[in-house]
Amino acid sequence: LVVLENVNKHFGALHVLQDIDLTIGRGEVVVVIGPSGSGKSTLCRAINRLEAIDSGRIAIDGKPLPAEGRELARLRADVGMVFQSFNLFAHKTVLQNVTLGQIRVRKSEKNAAEQRARDLLDRVGVGSQADKYPAQLSGGQQQRVAIARALAMNPKVMLFDEPTSALDPEMINEVLEVMRQLAQEGMTMVVVTHEMGFARSAANRVVFMADGRIVEQATPEQFFSNPRSDRAKDFLSKIL
Ligand code: ATP
Ligand code: MG
Repeated sequence: LVVLENVNKHFGALHVLQDIDLTIGRGEVVVVIGPSGSGKSTLCRAINRLEAIDSGRIAIDGKPLPAEGRELARLRADVGMVFQSFNLFAHKTVLQNVTLGQIRVRKSEKNAAEQRARDLLDRVGVGSQADKYPAQLSGGQQQRVAIARALAMNPKVMLFDEPTSALDPEMINEVLEVMRQLAQEGMTMVVVTHEMGFARSAANRVVFMADGRIVEQATPEQFFSNPRSDRAKDFLSKIL
C-alpha cells in the first residue's frame, strides 16, 4: 500500500534519509523505533509530503506522490497523520475539528459530516466532548480527537509520530487502546513510538532506524529477543 524506493533526503549537509526502501502492506502495522535524530519523523513527513525528498520514489496505493495542488490535498487526505502535539484547531469546537476536512476536502454535506464525526468521537470515547474547545480537554482526550479527525477523512493509512510522548502517564493507555483497536480493525499504520509494549503487542513489524538508515526490520518477537545489529542491541539495552 505504501512503497518507498531508494528515498534520500538532506537537510543541508545532513543526510537524514539514506537509501530508504520500505514496503508497507495493506492492514500492516509497522512500528518505527530508533534513537533521537535518526530520521523517524522525517520519514513520516516524507510519506505525506510535508517534507519533499531529494531523490527516490514514494507511492501510496500505486500512485506516486504528487508534488502540489489538488492532487496533493487528496493524497494528504488518504494519509492520516497524528503528531506528538495534538495540532487541533484551537478556535474550533471538537465537532468542527472533525467535520472541517470532510466538508472542505471530501466535499461531504454538513449533516453527513457531523453524523460521521459524532460516530468517530464515540468510537474513541470522547463523544460527550463534541461541543467543547480543545483547550477544555485533557491531553489524552485531545489526542483521541486528533485521531478521530484523521479517521474522518477515511484514510488508507495512518501515520502516528510519537502520539503519546506529550501525554501524562495515566493518559497514555487510553490513546494506545484506541490505536490497538484501529490495528485490530485492519487499519494500515506506521507508528513512531517509544512504547515498546505497544510495539510488542500490536506491531506486525518493527523497523529500526539509526543515522537516517533502516538498520534492521523484523517481527517484534525477533527484534526484541534477538536483535541482529549492534546499533539495535545498544539501543535496546538503553531503553528496556
Ligand atoms: P526524535 O526521536 O528526536 O523525534 P527523529 O528520529 O524523529 O528524532 P528527525 O526529526 O527525523 O529525527 O530528524 C532527523 C535529523 O534531521 C535530526 O538531526 C534533525 O536535527 C534534523 N532535522 C529535522 N528537521 C529539520 C529541518 N527542518 N531542518 C534542518 N534539520 C532538520
Ligand atoms: Mg521525531
